[in-house]
Amino acid sequence: MNQQAQIPNYINNTWMQSEASDQLNVTNPATGEVLAQVPLSPVEEVNQAATAASNAFDEWRRTPPVQRVQYLFKLKNLLEENIDDIAQTITMECGKTVSEAKGEMRRAIENVEVACGIPTLMQGTNLEDIASGIDEFMIRQPVGVCAVIAPFNFPGMITFWFLPYAIACGNTYIVKPSEKVPLTMQKIFQLLEQTGLPEGVVNLVNGGQETVNAILEHPEIRAISFVGSTDTAKAIYAKAAAHGKRVQCQGGAKNPLIVLPDADPQFTVNATADSAFGCAGQRCLAASLAFTVGGAQNWFTQAISDTATDRVVGNGLDDGVQMGPVITQESRKRIESVIQSGIEEGARVLVDGRYPKISGCENGNYIRPTVLGNIDPEGEIAKTEIFGPVLGLIHVQTIDDAINLINSGSYGNMACLFTSSGASARKFRYEAQIGNIGINIGVAAPMAFFPFSGWKDSFFGDLHGQSWDAVDFFTQKKVVVERWN
Ligand code: NAD
Repeated sequence: MNQQAQIPNYINNTWMQSEASDQLNVTNPATGEVLAQVPLSPVEEVNQAATAASNAFDEWRRTPPVQRVQYLFKLKNLLEENIDDIAQTITMECGKTVSEAKGEMRRAIENVEVACGIPTLMQGTNLEDIASGIDEFMIRQPVGVCAVIAPFNFPGMITFWFLPYAIACGNTYIVKPSEKVPLTMQKIFQLLEQTGLPEGVVNLVNGGQETVNAILEHPEIRAISFVGSTDTAKAIYAKAAAHGKRVQCQGGAKNPLIVLPDADPQFTVNATADSAFGCAGQRCLAASLAFTVGGAQNWFTQAISDTATDRVVGNGLDDGVQMGPVITQESRKRIESVIQSGIEEGARVLVDGRYPKISGCENGNYIRPTVLGNIDPEGEIAKTEIFGPVLGLIHVQTIDDAINLINSGSYGNMACLFTSSGASARKFRYEAQIGNIGINIGVAAPMAFFPFSGWKDSFFGDLHGQSWDAVDFFTQKKVVVERWN
């Protein structure tokens, strides 16, 4: 691909240059280099994709599930063969390290593997003789044309929480990637093309807000999956519902960890650092706050500060780099200003990662790992999603204090506990009002055979991505009562 060229859409099995009047630069966050141009596709191109998907639907839903999943088996093999290439692209446009990018693609592949089980997962139920000679059964049928609107931080994986299940269940599909990282989906759609999927089953439309609005308003698009920030999630949930669509929206997060005095110190510090600073803190499951309980403060504070200081920061393509840049200059400036307001609220700077010099990457968007102590639990920095490599420490006397503070927050994406006490672990998982729970785990990311949860302001809807929730989301139930004399 010509690196400066405008990237195409993929509609009805054809790569098409957009007629968009506006386009944006796709920029390598590690270097500032412009990699390509992404079109902000207009309404007409969403309409074209919706028509292609709608025309493909009838034949695709009649294709037996066992045949439909043959395309996913091919896709799984193609993704395995091309994982290094896709990971390089993720690193170039998103900034994470190559090993983080490969980890992301492993999670994507895992979802394809689970969706290959659709002939079993999609089965309904039945009961004979609900009355004499009358049988009743429930079958699942696909919903129709469905679409995903994806965020920047996992350019490959997040679409795979939905797409494999959607098409395996007999739906046809439209992907709208983040305009900040659209190149990974170019690669993935080249592989989808190689599977030989029939025309119109999967479609790719690049763009921004106007493109999304056209998707939300299109009468042929029956279901929307969204992942992104909370404000956008709320707005998309309301708008999609107002247009009569099925909708699931994953939002932002402010993820706390609790460190009890009986936790394994070295293990806890390493897991916390990986959670807070991995992917430059731009995971929806990144630790943002650590509650140290009682005596844990003594060993945790210095050790996490030392680990943060030692992280090797640079271009994620380079060997030995442990943390890459954040996505944009705007993002870097926003994170710096949140750190500053935390300091003004009384936070103590234990490690200040602002304004680093990364040799050879002077135009990259870098912030080194930052650790702030003495965070005010009621302050803005304790409540705002930072989405950068910043960990705030709050000291409390008991696990109840920590759980109460966690439950008073507005988000509910992930919380983790480090302990060697089974009773404390059970109390925590029972009482925390949070969707994804980790016990002695720093990033509690559900495997593909479980739903990816999220509560409160981290999720709007009722069925999540992945696993049986995805099967429920991408099918509608039909109940048949039948008598044959
Ligand atoms: P974002 O909300 O800015 O963008 C997400 C998508 O929505 C993009 O495709 C974008 O084009 C579109 N969009 C943005 N503003 C819009 C608007 N006003 N109208 C219509 N469409 C709009 O999110 P982001 O910055 O790309 O991603 C980071 C956010 O995603 C963080 O808040 C993170 O916590 C969240 N996230 C959540 C999960 C989860 O599972 N809960 C997973 C990954 C990321």
